[in-house]
Amino acid sequence: MKIVRVETHVCHARMRNWIFVKVVTDQDGLWGWGEATLEWHTRGIVGAIADVSELIIGEDPTRIEYLWQMMFRQHFWHGNGIERATAIAGIDLALWDILGKIANLPCSKLWGGPVRDHVRTYCHLGGGSMEDFYETAADDAKRFGDLAKQAVADGFTAFKSMAVPPTLPLEGLKPLRVAEQAVAAMREAVGESIDIMVDCHARPSPTMGLQFAKVLEPYGLYFLEEPCWPESIEGLRTIKDSVRTPIATGERITNLADFARLFAAGACDICQLDITHCGGLTAARRIAAVADAHRLSLAPHNPQGPVSTAASLEFGFSQPSYIICETVHADVPWRQDVVQEGFIVEKQGRIVRPNALPGLGIEINEDEVRKHPFQQELPQRVWYSDGSVGDW
Ligand SMILES: [Mg+2]
Repeated sequence: MKIVRVETHVCHARMRNWIFVKVVTDQDGLWGWGEATLEWHTRGIVGAIADVSELIIGEDPTRIEYLWQMMFRQHFWHGNGIERATAIAGIDLALWDILGKIANLPCSKLWGGPVRDHVRTYCHLGGGSMEDFYETAADDAKRFGDLAKQAVADGFTAFKSMAVPPTLPLEGLKPLRVAEQAVAAMREAVGESIDIMVDCHARPSPTMGLQFAKVLEPYGLYFLEEPCWPESIEGLRTIKDSVRTPIATGERITNLADFARLFAAGACDICQLDITHCGGLTAARRIAAVADAHRLSLAPHNPQGPVSTAASLEFGFSQPSYIICETVHADVPWRQDVVQEGFIVEKQGRIVRPNALPGLGIEINEDEVRKHPFQQELPQRVWYSDGSVGDW
């Protein structure tokens, strides 16, 4: 059996272009689907996949570890950079999908699962619509409360918000009170049985991140995400040691060695590896093993498209420390038109039962994808109050 070609199918989904990867074999009707979505890098990723594909065309698609090593190590440059790590991930997911189809087993069973009866999911406020999740002003506390109520009405028991405003490296009380009022409004709206998460998007400096963590601590967040840059391991450690709120990070880390350093420093409670950015399911399983040695929780980053979600769920059904699946369900109204999924989402509680179909259990509708060709991603940029450039 041989890989004959690797295709990329780009699907414009408003603020992201989903990049679906199809690895096609010489066996009639046998192919696998992966995803390599990376905002604002779509052309680079499509090109990186074409470059990396040259290393694996003609090879046996079932030799996944061998092919991963080939893609990561060959041609001198290691696959640590965000574009190549994402390209490798997209292909790696498709290879696991192929192997599952050959074995006629869901991927989670290839890895000894399922380890649980269901996976819990959480949503972004507004279901992940760009305006609701990314553009609700942090000082509009009432809107945060209304969107929180809607998430619960949609069946979710947990949701994430961006309730922390961008700040200069040091600011006074005002942004702290703004964040506190937004979180207080959400807690007031949904009560204590619902889990609330706040994503700081790594905007704050370690000093501001610590102050946000302190003012939000009384609201019992399920976790506080990226309270400062992931490069600031000492800053993360200080924040984690200063509050009882669990600290989550890891979505921007692309390789095992950097994860190992983060974990060894005791700098987080939850590892948010991104399966489509860290080198795929092959790499994610290694990262999970190291996380397990530190007894950390796993909650993969997943604001991307439907193949990324299927991969996160298969991973979740195989990993004992996996706690919750990030989902986006309302970024575009036609999301379900482009994919057939093998798993079932229960409306009440938004839990997911195991996929019964082989591989990742998904099929992409290429005709639907063609209705949404590449467009430049919509700009999302941040400037601070003095006009200097901030972090999105
Ligand atoms: Mg995040």
